[in-house]
Order: sequence, then structure tokens, then C-alpha cells
Amino acid sequence: MIEDEKIKKKYYDALVNKDANYDGIFFAAIKTTGVFCHATCPAKKPKYENCLFFQDAQSALLAGFRPCKRCNPLSYPHELSPLVKEIVSMVEQNPEKRWKDEDFKVLGAHPATARRQFKQAYGMTFVQYARARRMGLALQSIRLGEKVIDAQLNAGYDSASGFNDAFSKIMGNPPIKKGEINVLYAKWINTKLGPMLSISDEEFLYLLEFVDRRGLEREIERLRNRRKATILPGETKISRQIEEELNLYFENKLIHFQTPVFFLGSDFQKKVWNALLKIPAGEVSTYKKIASEIGTPDGVRAVGNANGANQLAIIIPCHRVIQTSGEIGGYGGGRERKQWLLDHEQNFHKEDL
Ligand SMILES: [Zn+2]
Repeated sequence: MIEDEKIKKKYYDALVNKDANYDGIFFAAIKTTGVFCHATCPAKKPKYENCLFFQDAQSALLAGFRPCKRCNPLSYPHELSPLVKEIVSMVEQNPEKRWKDEDFKVLGAHPATARRQFKQAYGMTFVQYARARRMGLALQSIRLGEKVIDAQLNAGYDSASGFNDAFSKIMGNPPIKKGEINVLYAKWINTKLGPMLSISDEEFLYLLEFVDRRGLEREIERLRNRRKATILPGETKISRQIEEELNLYFENKLIHFQTPVFFLGSDFQKKVWNALLKIPAGEVSTYKKIASEIGTPDGVRAVGNANGANQLAIIIPCHRVIQTSGEIGGYGGGRERKQWLLDHEQNFHKEDL
């Protein structure tokens, strides 16, 4: 999401003036209607304070917005093929669904053709699109709070679009009776590196991830199953603490997180995570080194997997583990973020905090 006021004002002007030069440069999301548009959208233009601006469509989807039917913001610069249009409307009818090859066959399309056309039109795969839309819907109520969602429903949001289903499929159904099931609270946290999701109760932090992280949906499912919990939007003492600490971390004022965390994993995973916690900021380790340190020198791959299964981004510094060759290696939140975090922590080291 674009935060710079100057840029936002410039984009807003472009939106009001339907400036075609900006089609594909930014996507304007409209809080009151829940859609995102191109600059040239023919629809009535919203007030400035109701607009959010995104650089890419996936971020707009993850923030819970759906593509506007009037301007088809995702089709730029191509026209959408009828097949792709139909696939998008299928997702809108059932945003909570996980799509399989058979579903394309209903359209009389070969799955490979459908996938190729989709990727061409949208610059992302169909699976990425459907996931971003599904997660976005679930994350939206966390980000905006329930009131805004009611307003969107009243403003003609198609309630048959499975809006509530999308949330409860991922986050679980709200408990019918108090005390029937554990409740965890999800809170949206904006950071310099993009939005993060925290999931906590009044005692522990269970999950902290970038909202666009690969596999976040599965992580949330695992957490729910293991804790026998349902997740509701909301704040806890713990979510407030981690938000404060993250702010300090990004301002170079904190490196040791004090928020109580809960390690949800196997004994082996916990061993690896504890080893990760010992890598000082400003330094890096390798999967191989960690494997020897925990007494399983042959378990390099297992260490890599445990590293990837970390659900407490930044706090458990899995970003400080690189490949033996010196290459940066993968990161659930993306390699650019990994590099950014490593560079950022170099500064900590110099200041010897
Ligand atoms: Zn539009």
C-alpha cells in the first residue's frame, strides 16, 4: 500500500481526471465499495479519504478488495478473454473455494489453456489470484474491523459472494457458546516492509507473518487445528506488545523481542528454532552449521524445512540463515525482504545495541 501523501495526492488527481497514463501504474481501492479500479474507471469517483493506492493488484486483493467490474483493472493492457472473465466471475461467486483442475473442465476449457490465458491477462497465476482473493477477504475484517464490512454489505456487496464463508473457512467459525472453544485474536500490523498478521491470545504470540507470505493459509489452519481454536479479529495485550516492539525494531531501537511466544512444532523444529534465536543480529548462519550445532549433521535438509516452518517471522530470525555457498537463499516473505532485514540488522550491529 502506498503511504506517501504526495504520491497519494498525485494518484488521486490522476484518478479524478481519468488519466490514462496511470492505468497499470497504480490501483485505487475504494474503502466504501470494496473494489479496486484503474485510473480511467468510468464509475463515480470517491472522496480522497476513502481511497487507498496499491502498486500491484495482488496487494489490493490481499487487502480484501475485488476487481471492479466496470473498469476490469486487472486486464490492462490486454482485453480479457471470455474464458478468463468467466474464471474471475467463478472466483467471485465462490471466493472461499480452493480450485482444482476439474473446475476448469466445467467451463469446457483445458486446464492448461485456462491457466496460460489467466497468467497472460493477470500477470499472476490463477492459484495466486484465487488465494490472494480468498486470503484478502479473510484478512479484510481483521484489517478494517467488522463495521466497515457491514457498510460494504449495505452498499450492495453481493452477500452471496461468500464473504463470510471466506473468513470462516480460513479462520474458523465463531464459537456458539462462550468457553466452548479456544479463541485466538488476529491483528493486522502495518510495517515498513508491508503488512503483517499477528495471532495471539492474552498469554502468547502464536504467529507473526507477512500477509502475502506463501503458505500463510495452511499455517493458519495448522495453528487452528493444533490449538483447537477459532480466530477472530481483535487485539490482545500480546498483539499490542508485539506491535510496539516491531515499531521499535524497524526504528533501530530494539533487537531482542520480549513478547512471550509459543513454539508450535515438533521437538526437532523447536530445537532448530532455539538455535536460530542464538544467531546474533548482524550475523548469518547456514543450514549446515545449524544442523551440526543441534547434533544432527546429516539433517541439513530437515533443518531447512524446520526453518521454513517458522511461524514467527523476524522474532525467530530464520532470515539470518543463508546457503552454505553464501547465496541468500529462500524466504517465506520473499528474498527482497530477507535482504532488507539483513541489511537493516547490520546497522544494529554497528551501533552495538
Ligand atoms: Zn472501476
